[in-house]
Amino acid sequence: MVEDTSAESGPVYGVLDEASDDERRVAVTPDIVTRLRKAGIACLVESGAGHGSHFSDDDYTKAGASVASRNDVVTGSDILGFVSRPSLDLLDSVPQGTWIVGMLGSWTDQEYVDALNARGLVGIAMEKLPRRLSSAQSMDEMTSQNSVMGYKAVLVAANAYGSFLPMMTTAAGTVRPAKVLVLGAGIAGLQAIGTARRLGAVVTAYDVRDASRSEVESLGAKFLDLGLDLSSGQGEGGYARELTDEERAAQQAAVDSRAADFDIVITTAKVPGRRPPVLLTAAGVSGLRRGAVVVDCAASDLGGNVEGSSVGTIVTENGVTIIGAPDLPSGVPDTASALLARNLADVVSHFVRDHHLKAIHDDLDDALVVTTPDIFEEGE
Ligand code: NAD
Repeated sequence: MVEDTSAESGPVYGVLDEASDDERRVAVTPDIVTRLRKAGIACLVESGAGHGSHFSDDDYTKAGASVASRNDVVTGSDILGFVSRPSLDLLDSVPQGTWIVGMLGSWTDQEYVDALNARGLVGIAMEKLPRRLSSAQSMDEMTSQNSVMGYKAVLVAANAYGSFLPMMTTAAGTVRPAKVLVLGAGIAGLQAIGTARRLGAVVTAYDVRDASRSEVESLGAKFLDLGLDLSSGQGEGGYARELTDEERAAQQAAVDSRAADFDIVITTAKVPGRRPPVLLTAAGVSGLRRGAVVVDCAASDLGGNVEGSSVGTIVTENGVTIIGAPDLPSGVPDTASALLARNLADVVSHFVRDHHLKAIHDDLDDALVVTTPDIFEEGE
C-alpha cells in the first residue's frame, strides 16, 4: 500500500469537542478524515470530540488524524470547522488568519461578522453558500441537517402522542390512524411527510410556495388548500418571501381553523435571513384537541412558527403538548455528523489550492463573509 503523505505539507483542519446537553454532533468523522487527507488536508481533533456521535479518539487516530488538547487544536489549526459557531470568548484565543467554517448566523447577526473581522479571521458562512449551484450540493448543510430534522420531528411527535400513528385492527377494536399536519414543505417538511407516512399516519401538508403542492402530493400526502391566493409567496431563488401583515393574518386565521382537525402538527417554515413566521397562533393551539402534539422545528428563544412556543416542552391548559425543538439533528448524531462533516469538508477542500488556503473569484465566494487577510489568488 502506498502511504498517503500528501496531508503532511497541507493545511491543518481542526475540530473541537462541541458536546453539550443539546449537542451530540461533531464536525468531522473518521471517514471524512480519510477523505480530507487524500485532498492534502491534515486533521487535528480534540480528544473526546466524537464521543456523542459514537466515534472514539482511536477511530480518529486510525483514520490518520492527530488527537490533541483543546488548546492545541485552537492554536495549531489553519482552519476550524464547527457544528455551531464559536463563542466570542473562544474566538479571542484563535490565532489571526485562521479560517472559521460553519453556520455563522451572518444573515441576521452583523455584529458577529464584525467580531470575526476585528480579530483578523476568515469567515466562511455555510448559510451563504449558493445552494442551487450543482458544485455546492454536497456542501449544503441546511439540506443535510434539515432532512435529519424532519425525520426526527416525526419520531419526537410520535413519542409524545398518546396513540398509534398507523391504523390498527385488533380483537379489541380498531384504532384510527393519526392525522398529521406538516406546515412548511421544504427540505425538513418533505422528510417529515415521508417519515409520518411510513409510520402509517394520514398526512396533510401546506406551504406558501405553489411549487410545493406537487412535491407534497408525490409523497402521498394531501395538500392543504387554505383558500387564499398567496401564489406570489415564492420569493428569490425558490425560497418563500416574507408575507405582508394582511397576508400573514389571513394565513394564520385559515391555519388556526383548519389545524383543529389534526392530532399532530409539525412546523418547519422559515424565510432565509428573517425570524420564522408564526403560522399557528395561540387561538389555533387552543382549538386543538386534548392530547394533540405540536412540534415546532423553527422554535428559538425569539419564537418560532407557533405562538407561545419556546425551546423545550410545554403542556397547555387544554392538554396540548408543544415541543420547541431546534436541536433535532443532534438527536440523530451519527448520521447528522456524517452528513455535516462531508458538507464542511467539501467546502474546506474547495479553498485549498497547491497546499495553501486560497480563494479564487467564483460563485462560492458568496460564503466568504469575512476576508480580512488577503486570501484571493493573485491575478484572478
Ligand atoms: P427553509 O428551511 O428556508 O423553509 C422551509 C419551508 O418553509 C419552505 O418550503 C418555505 O417555502 C416554507 N415557508 C416559509 N414561510 C412560510 C409560510 N408563511 N407559510 C408556509 N410555509 C412557509 O427552506 P428549505 O427547506 O431549505 O428549502 C426551500 C426551497 O429551496 C425548496 O424549494 C427546496 O427544494 C429549495 N432548495 C433547493 C436546493 C437546490 O436546488 N440544490 C437546495 C436546497 C433547497
